[in-house]
Amino acid sequence: MINDYIKCRLCPRKCGANRYESHGICGMSADVRIARVMLHQWEEPCISYKNGAGTIFFYGCGLRCVYCQNHRISSEPVRNISDTKNLGDVFLELQESGADNIELVTASHFLPDIIKALDSVKHRLEIPVVYNSGGYELTDSIRRLDGYIDVYIPDIKYFSPEISERYSSAPDYFEYASQSVAQMIKQTGNPQYNESGGLIKGVIIRHLVLPNCRHDSMKILGWIAENFTPEQFLLSLMSQYTPFDFIPDNLPELRRRITKMEYNSVLRYAQELGFQGFMQEKSSADKIYVPDF
Ligand code: SF4
Repeated sequence: MINDYIKCRLCPRKCGANRYESHGICGMSADVRIARVMLHQWEEPCISYKNGAGTIFFYGCGLRCVYCQNHRISSEPVRNISDTKNLGDVFLELQESGADNIELVTASHFLPDIIKALDSVKHRLEIPVVYNSGGYELTDSIRRLDGYIDVYIPDIKYFSPEISERYSSAPDYFEYASQSVAQMIKQTGNPQYNESGGLIKGVIIRHLVLPNCRHDSMKILGWIAENFTPEQFLLSLMSQYTPFDFIPDNLPELRRRITKMEYNSVLRYAQELGFQGFMQEKSSADKIYVPDF
């Protein structure tokens, strides 16, 4: 069996790091690092619908956006809280505590361990498994998750290679994100819900509107409309971009929140295209979702 961590090519960076000896661009060695485990009340209403999503935030990220909204989690110095626990046990504890699902956040760089852990507890896991991703994924990795993941929540962050290069050093972002989202939708089929309104199968495409990027946002929506029908996915259109202090000086355009006009113009376009899903209150910097638009 191939050991993915020896010459790691688990994400589109394909940096080839031997993660037993050092770490790759994602910042992670072969040890699974968990930053936080929580019952998360503020995901989309069909993900946090009763007691909250059983969210596991993993350390590290291969994308490393300059404005990262999860900056502290993805790039803080590593604090290993998973030393004493098996990952499968973490899943079962979340289920025991009433979690609506198991939500894996930014997990692609630990894919082999995720699959191993799910294999070890699948006969005891009764809640859906949700894979929450920045969208920068290899299609092959998503194929390997077939049969393990019930719900995908991928971002599609950028359409333009210039913008994805500028903010994430990844001119190939859309190429990978578009192919992986297509694979996710193919795998799960149309959204399905349980009797409490919880999503048990399907894909929620997330998009965070960035300052000065509404035209890029609309190109993403246009691509989605050309490739999928509104019944095949849900859209989560996010407005809570927050300009943190660490934004580099050479990116002054990222030093403000988005305007109401920017968000509403993208939202209007999503509505014109007949998309179903969720929007956020523009007045709130928090992740407060309001019901269907
Ligand atoms: S997962 Fe990390 S180590 Fe592996 S290819 Fe991607 S950046 Fe490199």
